[in-house]
Amino acid sequence: MAQAGMHALVGTLARKVAPKREWLILGIILGSLFPDLDNYAVAVATLAKLDTHGLHRTFTHSLFTILAALAVFFIIGQVRKEARWTSLGAGFGIGIGLHIALDLLIWFNGVETLWPLGGWINLWEGVQPPAWFAKLLDPAELLFIALFFAWLARTAREQRTNADFLGKLRLWTIAMVVLFLIFTPLAYLMSKGFLTVFGVAYLVALTAAFWISIRMRQTIEA
Ligand SMILES: [Zn+2]
Repeated sequence: MAQAGMHALVGTLARKVAPKREWLILGIILGSLFPDLDNYAVAVATLAKLDTHGLHRTFTHSLFTILAALAVFFIIGQVRKEARWTSLGAGFGIGIGLHIALDLLIWFNGVETLWPLGGWINLWEGVQPPAWFAKLLDPAELLFIALFFAWLARTAREQRTNADFLGKLRLWTIAMVVLFLIFTPLAYLMSKGFLTVFGVAYLVALTAAFWISIRMRQTIEA
């Protein structure tokens, strides 16, 4: 797992440099979050007692996934005769690209950049973070998602956008912080079964981040 909230926050930096096109920045943020949704496949395989090897950081973290996203959204844009779908696809591709770059640079694991053809790159070969740090990374996911929500709230207030959603967003942010505080000691105390319980909270949080980004697109795009 990589810090999804951090990916989203890096995606928000694109607002400063990307041209103003409808749904482009939204696409970049969704594309930044999207690759780690492969953890759903890991969860399903775990529940079905199947091999989870090769499910994470592969089929959603590939240059071919970027090409597929570009093609699919381009076709939708052509069929609907709406340029914003093509922009959404371009942003989605850029977001996945940013996600892969960040995963390679600041993570202690590799990425299968050319899945299904291979292309496994690991800049951290042979580097093992200390055990206490590795344990902290899981609950820290929730903290980074809370930070992303806090960024959304601050930006929305500054721009006076999505005012009707700020109350709900606040509840989501509090929930993320509370879950972070609960799961941090559990990561150290639970020797067995932590990832199963935590995985549920993580997938809910990641899905919420994805959905809330779409719900608050007015803020993201303003
Ligand atoms: Zn990732």
